[in-house]
Amino acid sequence: MLEELWGYLLCIILAGVLSLFLSVYVRLKLTGVPGARYFMYATLLSAFFTFAYTFELFSSTLGQIKFWLRIEYLAMPFIPLLMLFMCFEYVGQKLNQRLSLMLYVIPVITVFLVNTNDLHHLYYSSVALRSDTPFPILALEYGPGFYVHALFVFMCLMISVVILLMHIKKSLFKFRMQILLMVAGLIMPIIANHFYLNGMSPYGIDLGPVSMSLSFLFHGAALFWFQMFNVAPIARETVFESMHEGVIVINQQKAIVDYNLSVVKVIPTLTSDAIGRPIFDLLNRNQVLSEIIHRGQECDYDMYIGKDMHYFHIRFSPVHNKNHLQIGQIITFVDITERVHLQERLQELASIDGLTQVFNRMYFKKTAEEKIEQLTDKHVSLIMFDIDHFKSVNDCYGHEAGDMVLTHVVEVAKNSLRKEDIMGRYGGEEFIICLPDTPIQEAYEVANGIRENIAANPIVIDNIEITVTSSFGLSHAYRVGDNQNTLQTLTRQADQALYEAKRAGRNCVQVLTVPTPTFAVVGE
Ligand code: GH3
Ligand code: MG
Ligand code: MG
Repeated sequence: MLEELWGYLLCIILAGVLSLFLSVYVRLKLTGVPGARYFMYATLLSAFFTFAYTFELFSSTLGQIKFWLRIEYLAMPFIPLLMLFMCFEYVGQKLNQRLSLMLYVIPVITVFLVNTNDLHHLYYSSVALRSDTPFPILALEYGPGFYVHALFVFMCLMISVVILLMHIKKSLFKFRMQILLMVAGLIMPIIANHFYLNGMSPYGIDLGPVSMSLSFLFHGAALFWFQMFNVAPIARETVFESMHEGVIVINQQKAIVDYNLSVVKVIPTLTSDAIGRPIFDLLNRNQVLSEIIHRGQECDYDMYIGKDMHYFHIRFSPVHNKNHLQIGQIITFVDITERVHLQERLQELASIDGLTQVFNRMYFKKTAEEKIEQLTDKHVSLIMFDIDHFKSVNDCYGHEAGDMVLTHVVEVAKNSLRKEDIMGRYGGEEFIICLPDTPIQEAYEVANGIRENIAANPIVIDNIEITVTSSFGLSHAYRVGDNQNTLQTLTRQADQALYEAKRAGRNCVQVLTVPTPTFAVVGE
């Protein structure tokens, strides 16, 4: 036997061992991951085919060679189909079950034709031993069955390559390498077949088995180096990309390792080129977010996306390697906009008077107390007013008209207020206004202005003009130090002043300021 043949035999045996090893490895380590099942069967059949081919090369008679050829064909026609199924599953596409079963028909026919070829010669039109080679090799002439099979193999491999390449655009660098390795692996048998069928292989040896082993070498590389199946793009994409939360992974040097689509709305400068770049480069215009990421502490963050304000909760989780060393960080952006809006709405419902749309008594108290705490100028004035003879409005025009009068009066009063003033419905037809940083004279002007406007602006309901007047009580304080009771005292005094206004004949403003140890009377 020729020395070259030994070299070739060695390659083939190695190819068979490699195929078998990959098959067992996938069976033991990678069950249930996308594409792995088909890869396992393909490598197993490839090992079977390759060992049968080894026996063919060792055979010396035509009968023996034909026998091993038939054995080889029990496995070989199915391998490209399994590779096709593997690629589909790998990129997360599902083939119709009936179509999958139909596709098996072609390799089954091929097996049948090869095994019954002596009867019809449809696969090989002639099979003979070559006399010009130093070892027994078949001289084959092909029939139509062979060309159908060859076309089928070519189509399976080409479609596999195409679907992988179509997927490459959507994939991150790591998966691109995997996919390129797989594509390289699939192209191998195509090239080998081309050489073989055009009579360009040495002594006409079938290059199929060796090309197959080279092909699996590429797949093996993808498998080991890039963990082809256990982090296949499908698994990563379905979990990572469909996440509502934005996720960005950075390493210890704060360079971006990975990110998902949802995070792009928070950091629009993120593109696939960003991988490997320091995260702060992409955030240089966003000081707030830069500082948050620098600090690495859980917090809330809000930003405008278009015209709308969005709220995020940002979380940081460490990434550890096998030795428990921190190698990076996962930053998660949870969009809490809906929750914030709901909270705001609930707060609004709990704080606003349904009829007049000003604060209710409780919320007025809370807000006014907070405001008084934060006063810049220490003056604060409080107005209480009550609609005069409102009972008779209800009696004359009905309760509904009474409601409209209440709303109207509030609107008129609001026109005289600044945005920092706080207005509330104290009860029934009685309202309260807190005027921060307002000396008594100014507050008097405001109260009197509102009084005049209410009296001068009747409301028209069903063509009937309804005019109401209101009585006003005014109090004022100059805050000295902390006094928890400022608002309470002011309210009591304003209420007293209002009572005085009613007594004085209504439709007027009365001021009452009583000195206390924490208040100084201002103005007079
Ligand atoms: P005074 O000048 O002394 O304030 O007389 P008044 O009639 O305004 O005072 P009184 O307290 O006797 O009557 C207040 C009325 O306001 C009684 C109540 O039916 C009416 N009222 C309270 N809340 C509402 C409301 O939400 N809608 C309507 N339509 N009426 C209300
Ligand atoms: Mg009244
Ligand atoms: Mg009243």
